[in-house]
Amino acid sequence: MLPPDSHVHTEWSWDAPYGSMERTCARAIELGLPSVAFTEHADMTGWVTPQDAQRPPAWDRFVTGGVLVPPPIDLQGYNASLERCRERYPGLRIYSGVELSEPHWHSERSSSLLQAGEFERVLASVHSARRATGSGFEEVSSSFADHTPDQVVRDYLDETVRLVEQFDNFEVLAHIDYPVRYWPGHDRPYDPLNFEDQYRHVLRVLASADKVLELNTKVPLHPQILLWWHQEGGQAITFASDAHDPESLAHGFVEAVRTAQAAGFRPGPDPLGVWRRT
Ligand SMILES: [Zn+2]
Ligand SMILES: [Zn+2]
Repeated sequence: MLPPDSHVHTEWSWDAPYGSMERTCARAIELGLPSVAFTEHADMTGWVTPQDAQRPPAWDRFVTGGVLVPPPIDLQGYNASLERCRERYPGLRIYSGVELSEPHWHSERSSSLLQAGEFERVLASVHSARRATGSGFEEVSSSFADHTPDQVVRDYLDETVRLVEQFDNFEVLAHIDYPVRYWPGHDRPYDPLNFEDQYRHVLRVLASADKVLELNTKVPLHPQILLWWHQEGGQAITFASDAHDPESLAHGFVEAVRTAQAAGFRPGPDPLGVWRRT
């Protein structure tokens, strides 16, 4: 059996026009997934966007004065949708959830959202970077335009350490290697070994905070990072497709399960819960 998919977006995430909670549930049953967590985006940082930014025209409505400010989650709509899906798919365990972006920069907003949402799964992640000019922030994908790829990864890992040190109200760190999704093809290939000290530092801080590391399969997490997680004392992992449409649910999980086993992780006592170190 495949492990639970612990990081999935639906139409209730502002950036998922092809998302569908209902169809994702149907797909989960088809795949035989034991459970799914709908962790919608809570993106609270505004991003300076280049004039020629390639973005869906539908996002123009979120841009004011060259800054894209993602809209808040419609909690009422999201909860009603969860309720409908739980009624319609009683055989599937459906967890509520949220993906907090840079919650350490927005701790009050994060805390009140967590209080209002009563989410069962709370992910924290970094999607933003400081601009090279020093003023404002940009999405990490835009960051490659004004930084070297190495610098983008190093800054990202530094920010991730600050997140874990400054904000405690979450369980799982999402996509520790997020910038790799946008690593420029013309550059030398990305190699986690070039960032070993920094990855290990994040992992150590994460392990001592007793958090869970996510094995995100969008760009499959490099097996080396999972080995480091084990060596640095990491106790648990989750599997995460980070799907933004039903077809991407549990994408790459067969391979990810092999990677996790090779790094020394096994299913825990609760089949709907995290995998634990052996
Ligand atoms: Zn994310
Ligand atoms: Zn996500």
